Amino acid sequence: MPENILIAIAWPYANAEIHVGNITGSHLPGDIVARYHRLKGDNVLMVSGTDSHGTPVTLAADKEGKPVEEVYKKYHDGFIKLFEGYGITYDLFTTTHTENHFKVSQAMFLALKENGFLFTQSSMQWYSPSAKRFLPDRYVEGTCYICGYEGARSDQCDNCGNVLEPEKLLNPRSKAGGALELCETEHFYLDLSKLEPDVKKFLQERADHLRDTVLGESLRKIESEGLKPRPITRDLDWGIPVPIEGWTEAVKCIYVWFEAVIGYLSAAIEWSTLSHGTRPVEVEGPSSESQPKGSESWREWWVSPSARQFYFIGKDNIFFHTSLWPAQLMGAGVQFLKIFAKDEKPLTLPYDVPANQFMNLEGQKISGSRNWAVWGRDALTRYDPDALRYYLTVNMPEMKDSDWDWAEFVARNNNELVATWGNLANRVLAFCYKNWTGQVPSVDVDTLRPADLDLLAVIENGFDTVGAELEAVRLRSALGEAMKLATAVNQYLDINAPWTAIKTDREAASKTIYTALKAIDSLKVLFAPFLPFTCERLHTFLGYESPLFGEQYTETVKDSLGEHTVLRYRVGRDTISSYWKPSELKPGVKLNQPAPLFKKLEGSVIEEERAKLGK
Ligand SMILES: [Zn+2]
Repeated sequence: MPENILIAIAWPYANAEIHVGNITGSHLPGDIVARYHRLKGDNVLMVSGTDSHGTPVTLAADKEGKPVEEVYKKYHDGFIKLFEGYGITYDLFTTTHTENHFKVSQAMFLALKENGFLFTQSSMQWYSPSAKRFLPDRYVEGTCYICGYEGARSDQCDNCGNVLEPEKLLNPRSKAGGALELCETEHFYLDLSKLEPDVKKFLQERADHLRDTVLGESLRKIESEGLKPRPITRDLDWGIPVPIEGWTEAVKCIYVWFEAVIGYLSAAIEWSTLSHGTRPVEVEGPSSESQPKGSESWREWWVSPSARQFYFIGKDNIFFHTSLWPAQLMGAGVQFLKIFAKDEKPLTLPYDVPANQFMNLEGQKISGSRNWAVWGRDALTRYDPDALRYYLTVNMPEMKDSDWDWAEFVARNNNELVATWGNLANRVLAFCYKNWTGQVPSVDVDTLRPADLDLLAVIENGFDTVGAELEAVRLRSALGEAMKLATAVNQYLDINAPWTAIKTDREAASKTIYTALKAIDSLKVLFAPFLPFTCERLHTFLGYESPLFGEQYTETVKDSLGEHTVLRYRVGRDTISSYWKPSELKPGVKLNQPAPLFKKLEGSVIEEERAKLGK
């Protein structure tokens, strides 16, 4: 029975390009799981967008001497090109700087306020008399009053790791220049202590499937430290206005941590407004009697108790997604929909938050400022997307930090992707195409030998084993299982040697090639979530006319804030029925001229790439 699956991926900040660590941390695992569920015939919605607000973005704009709007759009457009290149199939990749997101975020703010979870409190903040404004924490640096480090931010010391009270900072100085004075400022706080019991219960109910690393940063952390109120407004003019009389005009806005997570909900709403119900999926099952249509279709993932939401994020974001975001959703309760849509239903809560650890590079932390990085778009100019996706999956930092190593990248490409899987597909297809006049051998399937049936049974079982790993978001293991099955087909071919058998026993060779083709046709589906570009090509070689996957495209959306480009995904009508099942390839089917799927890499690549690091 098709399920409603929301794939929610961390919103990249519009102040830096995306590197391989970001791709393997969130975008790629989210895409793999989305593609798997689409192949299964589930009703998938995959959303994210550019986090356009907050001080990292205004700081980047100051540094580049350009308007904030121009800077966020530059990064946003680059992200979209990267996702197209890697085949990261967002149903909607938008930004937080949209009229829709403003409205949804403000409704969430008001819902929490009406339910009694917000209060105001005054605190001391650094003020710049020359700029006539309060300076956000990242704009003020000074000496840490705990460890004496001279480059501490007013709210945090990167040297000793302590959270700092801005007013205690020693020798404070403004990054923008000019004098500083301490002044009182008032802000809204989210009373997380009131929501603590609900958040604990939420986490306990999911403890059986949340990763242990995730529980450590959420449930166990709350049990030892508790949840404390957090400010949800800032002294900043770039962001979402506070929807309260007297506050809208002030140079204050909603804090970026509070509104960016709301993007998962607002993006779903924007997606269904843009789609106007043109999505060709008809969902059957329990939710169908009240299945919303058209611009209300976001409710399938957000107002449906059976919908499952997966959040793909890096370890630095665990607390926001496992504790703060659920607290916002539970605190808003039915009030959000009452304000937003004159309806009284609770919103769906996250199901799983499979956060990844970090990827390092050649033994050191990835650092953009030192150019110790493999940049996503740059890598695509030299390597095929599936070669990169393969290495980023086998090396995904699921349970602990991993390391991008150029020698290992070349070795795994050549020894696994090319030698085990690529050569298997290519040599069987090319041999068949040449010797059976471009068709699948016309064998009588009732005469297949025990060894043929055994291999097909092993491959068929892969849909359960690989599927179970994908369901549990153990992607390294899922891909490893698929690769083991490719090895089993290679062993079968070594034993049955159709290349020599064809000279003496053409019928035996026909059965071997038919069996191997059928196995490859199944493996194509098992590999497809990981290696979509090459599996789609293989799908064509095997004679299929309708594609495995849909298409990505961009669109420009206009609203009262201006215009923004969005990345979208068109689900082909033919791709809805489930492909996640063993091959039904028939004898005699016409094939298309095959070609190699992957490229072997030269060893010289290793030193060339290493030489670029840190320059
Ligand atoms: Zn310190």
